[in-house]
Amino acid sequence: MSAVASTRTQVAIIGGGPAGLMLSHLLHVAGIESVVVDNRTVEAIETTHRAGILERDSVRLLVDSGVSGRVLTDGHEHEGIDLRFGGVSHRIDFQKLAGASCWLYPQTDVFIDLHRARTRDGGDLRYGVTDTEVADVVDGPVVRITAADGSRQQITADLVVGADGSRSICRDLVAQPHRYFREYPFAWFGVMVQAPPSAPELIYNRSPQGFALISQRTETVQRMYFQCDPTEDPAAWSDDRIWDQLQTRLSGPDGFRLTEGPVIERTVLPFRSFVQSPMRHGRLLLAGDAAHTVPPTGAKGLNLALADVRVLADVIERALRTNDTDALDTYTERALSRVWKAQHFSYWMTTMLHNGSGATEFDEKRQLGELATLVASEAGSAYLAEGYTGWSQH
Ligand SMILES: Cc1cc2nc3c(=O)[nH]c(=O)nc-3n(C[C@H](O)[C@H](O)[C@H](O)COP(=O)(O)OP(=O)(O)OC[C@H]3O[C@@H](n4cnc5c(N)ncnc54)[C@H](O)[C@@H]3O)c2cc1C
Repeated sequence: MSAVASTRTQVAIIGGGPAGLMLSHLLHVAGIESVVVDNRTVEAIETTHRAGILERDSVRLLVDSGVSGRVLTDGHEHEGIDLRFGGVSHRIDFQKLAGASCWLYPQTDVFIDLHRARTRDGGDLRYGVTDTEVADVVDGPVVRITAADGSRQQITADLVVGADGSRSICRDLVAQPHRYFREYPFAWFGVMVQAPPSAPELIYNRSPQGFALISQRTETVQRMYFQCDPTEDPAAWSDDRIWDQLQTRLSGPDGFRLTEGPVIERTVLPFRSFVQSPMRHGRLLLAGDAAHTVPPTGAKGLNLALADVRVLADVIERALRTNDTDALDTYTERALSRVWKAQHFSYWMTTMLHNGSGATEFDEKRQLGELATLVASEAGSAYLAEGYTGWSQH
């Protein structure tokens, strides 16, 4: 039987997505060693389309921490969004209302930048692993994996971070957690289409047929979504049927039409609000989707993952410098104060723009009343602008 290769590090990180890699980078900047393990391959992560909007502070974090300035050259600054209902568009001007912008910069590019930065700085990154096991999280964490080359490896660490996404194995290691859920009776049908942009900024659209979101990626590829049943089979939808659904939802007296092209990818995204508290147990800490998920309306998931690890890097640095794990005690409270704001924002955007199953005429008219109030009120519009571009870090 071959010997198990053993590594000693300060922080073992399970999950090399945005949360895990950004944490590893911030720890490196602070002079702290880490090992990142991930059960997907780099190629699989680089080609999986997910989020696309970065808040102002997420952009600052990428640039100021030395990951990359590419977001500022290849990303697109968006100074607002269109809220469209009753077939009429209303611009929410973020710069005027909140003095901030957000950036269209796909999660695949965020990952590429982070992975390049960690590789450039000599980071220990182990992708394509299997059989991840995490043990002894209270006394002295041990992580065991089967590496991509088939060898069995062990990592011992002062701390272990579960940044292993929405199907986290690490969150089950927290003793007696509180788990807060909200299920929704719908999902998003997401498509990538080969076509020029139909609009310069995102359009959040409410219609009697349901919600639709028009987003962008490049000059030739666009991202669009429409509300659907969670059991919808993406393979059952032809290109024509998808375009018909999108055009119907966006149509209005202004004659707006989306520019059509071949649908090159189609997926159904489940919807769920979830928070687990506490986000720490002994020497285990959770970050990103492992601890909380939000519905994608409002574009908070990726931004929350980055915000978590900014706080986490700070408390880990203090705990390791003073050799006192009490410094970790503040993490849950600091992280969750932002998480619950984002939970509310995502829930609010979702319920304001989607048709609930069994919605009555009263519900529909009340929803339109809410949207009309929002766009007519500078205070209402500013509330949306502040939430969308992100609350200041503290
Ligand atoms: C299909 C999909 C579409 C999305 N679309 C949007 C969107 O349009 N807009 C938006 O704002 N947000 C979207 N999100 C949410 C956003 O992508 C996440 O909030 C963000 O990726 C969170 O980053 P993370 O690092 O916490 O988790 P992840 O990016 O999920 O990274 C976790 C990593 O952990 C690894 N891992 C998991 N289990 C193990 C294990 N046992 N051992 C080792 N490694 C493990 C995974 O391979 C993964 O790479 C989407 C999410 C999904 C799943």
